[in-house]
Amino acid sequence: LRETKNVSFNPPIQNTGIDLHQKIRVCVRKRPLSRKELNMGEKDIAPVTGPHTVLVKAPRTKIDMTRFTEQYSFTFDDAFDCTSTNEQIYNRTARPLVDYMLQGGKATCFAYGQTGSGKTYTMLDLQHGLYVLAAKDIFNRLGQKKYSHLTASIGFYEIYQNKLYDLLNQRKGLVPRNDGNNNVVIAGLTEVPVKDVNRLMHTFEFGSQARMTGKTGANNNSSRSHAVLQVLIKSVDKPSAIYGKLSFIDLAGSERGADRGEETSTTTRREGAEINKSLLALKECIRALDQDQKHAPFRGSKLTQVLRDSFIGDSRTCMIATISPNMSNSEHTLNTLRYADRVKEIKGESDPRLL
Ligand code: ADP
Repeated sequence: LRETKNVSFNPPIQNTGIDLHQKIRVCVRKRPLSRKELNMGEKDIAPVTGPHTVLVKAPRTKIDMTRFTEQYSFTFDDAFDCTSTNEQIYNRTARPLVDYMLQGGKATCFAYGQTGSGKTYTMLDLQHGLYVLAAKDIFNRLGQKKYSHLTASIGFYEIYQNKLYDLLNQRKGLVPRNDGNNNVVIAGLTEVPVKDVNRLMHTFEFGSQARMTGKTGANNNSSRSHAVLQVLIKSVDKPSAIYGKLSFIDLAGSERGADRGEETSTTTRREGAEINKSLLALKECIRALDQDQKHAPFRGSKLTQVLRDSFIGDSRTCMIATISPNMSNSEHTLNTLRYADRVKEIKGESDPRLL
């Protein structure tokens, strides 16, 4: 009789059924109706009807002013309903990227959606965001003999109005450069070596505080900046080179400033224009992934400039489109899903060397 072993904490990645040759995966996550929305009698107008499909019902008016409801259907690699937990989502989004990074790859996981749709909750929630689950997974694996030659460190910065600020060093301004070897170097970015989950979470919390308190004026909040948490893996015998890299991005809200119901000051308009520009550049770069990468418009914004090495070559990307379930956000939901749908068209299969 063969000995039965306990089920390991990290089942082999193949068990997730995810095709690791796929360069980009696009998933959608719907948050639950909030208490306020429920009290207002709002209904869920975006049912997840299968493991890959979400429907959106949006109110429309005909020329003769009669009203009707139009239904739109979208299909993605995964569609997560409001009952899905971050753990379930982790297994099908960031987890394959952690595995890939520990094999020496570069990867990016980002959340895209309107403000209030659950980007931060999914990616960078202090208690159970995907980054916490990834940290647990990473340190669990680095504790194994197979990975004992690898060390981890983190960098954390934000991009606000097309400028970079170091969240681990008093929001100091930073400038990204290309080192000529397809690596993006952000000169002066603080890199904190982390040996365990607690240290990583502590460092992250410190940076999050800087993100919250660094803004001045009532109109500034974190939905106007992109936050990038990067985990760098290095080999002890080659500490100057990056072995693997995984970036978690909590993007700025995808809606326009005026849609937030705020007064449109010059600053708000400028912020909105920068955000739209960077999100458009991001889409264009992703779309260029399986075409002529040399001519992808990475220089179009700081966001794409810093993410360049996560997108070119044999990198992996996972996009999580976050949506709200209620009727009053149906147009934002449709816009998010249309953006995701265009990103999804990229199905570049890549060199399986690393797998
Ligand atoms: P965003 O980062 O897109 O602006 P947040 O992540 O801050 O949105 O989410 C807005 C609110 O909704 C927060 O109070 C958050 O706790 C809640 N929320 C978002 N997603 C979920 C979810 N899947 N389950 C429960 N609450 C959620």
